[in-house]
Amino acid sequence: MKITKVEALPVTTPLQKPFVMPGTHITGIDSVVVKVHTDEGYVGFADSGDTSTWYRGETQESIIGMLCEHIAPRFLIGQDPRDIEKIVGWMDMFVRENNQAKATVDFALHDLKGKLLDVPVYQLLGGRCAEASVQGWVTSAGSPEQVVPEALTALEKGFCLIKLKTGHGSIDDDVATVKAVREAVGDDVRLTVDVNGFWNYDQALKTLRKLDPYHLECIEQPLPHWDIEGLARLRDKVGTPIFADESAQELHHLKEIIDRRAADGLFIKMQKAGGLLKAQRWLTMARLADMPVMSGCMIGSGLEASPSAHLMIANQWASQFTHENLGPLIIHGQWDTDAEGTPDDIARNVPVFSGGELYPNEGPGFGIELNEDFIARNITRDKTSRVVQ
Ligand SMILES: [Mg+2]
Repeated sequence: MKITKVEALPVTTPLQKPFVMPGTHITGIDSVVVKVHTDEGYVGFADSGDTSTWYRGETQESIIGMLCEHIAPRFLIGQDPRDIEKIVGWMDMFVRENNQAKATVDFALHDLKGKLLDVPVYQLLGGRCAEASVQGWVTSAGSPEQVVPEALTALEKGFCLIKLKTGHGSIDDDVATVKAVREAVGDDVRLTVDVNGFWNYDQALKTLRKLDPYHLECIEQPLPHWDIEGLARLRDKVGTPIFADESAQELHHLKEIIDRRAADGLFIKMQKAGGLLKAQRWLTMARLADMPVMSGCMIGSGLEASPSAHLMIANQWASQFTHENLGPLIIHGQWDTDAEGTPDDIARNVPVFSGGELYPNEGPGFGIELNEDFIARNITRDKTSRVVQ
């Protein structure tokens, strides 16, 4: 079996309501949908999820360019799509960085292989350790008046953890929001804060000392991605456990974080790790270091949510922890998909979110049928799809 054609489509999915993070006001998800075709008629699908210049530094243009100019002609066309380890190895050897582009290829190959073998992707990743992955809710950054009601509703809907984003106003405003949410939800609710790397060391030290009384379960990425040494210094001085997200990308970053004792836990996204195959190595390192993991999403469709949904129930280490793979819910302004129905999405059959848990589709592959009408209506303005064959 050979890969005969690769398609890359830029899609913009509008959000029901804007999502606010430091310096970022997202109103639509700009992603790349990839289709990998074979000479036997099987097609693998993937969705890159939202692109972001500050999180991954990859855009729709960079992903489509890297895929269509380099990866597809050199490492995909004419190759057997079942040889995922070989293709991922080639991509890593000859393409530096660009993990979101590489992950999108890896996702499509896993979907294709699941379809060929007529099994769900989680069966390729070790089988089932859990029925569903337990989810926390992530609030958009905002004032106490905006965030407190959202947090209370999320708890009512079954989410077991609330993650707050900073960056609505000043750092003092962020502290006021944490205080208000803690007072509203009570002492027993699991509460975390994600700074996305937007504080400097001095701000982080002073602010974390103010936040220590609210016993956060963790503070995520308080310092810029490059400052692993700073995370280690900070960790020595504050009581709140520190999780690394933007700092923890490739395996050598994990090794440095572990060697320097720079974090209490790690945050993984499949796109950051470079796909499902590399994510499994990533989780093995976390397990070896006895570090808890949370996984999240780039914010994306039911197709974007699928690779992580499959791995989080198949990986024994990851399946023990709480995740936040909420893309379809954030896009469509929903709390679940079973009671509220399946929204109009890149995927026709969004995986089931129910009572704060996420169930992967039963396959084959990711078990996703593309919504071609939706994709055709939402091709990103002024951008064009490309085909390599
Ligand atoms: Mg984060």
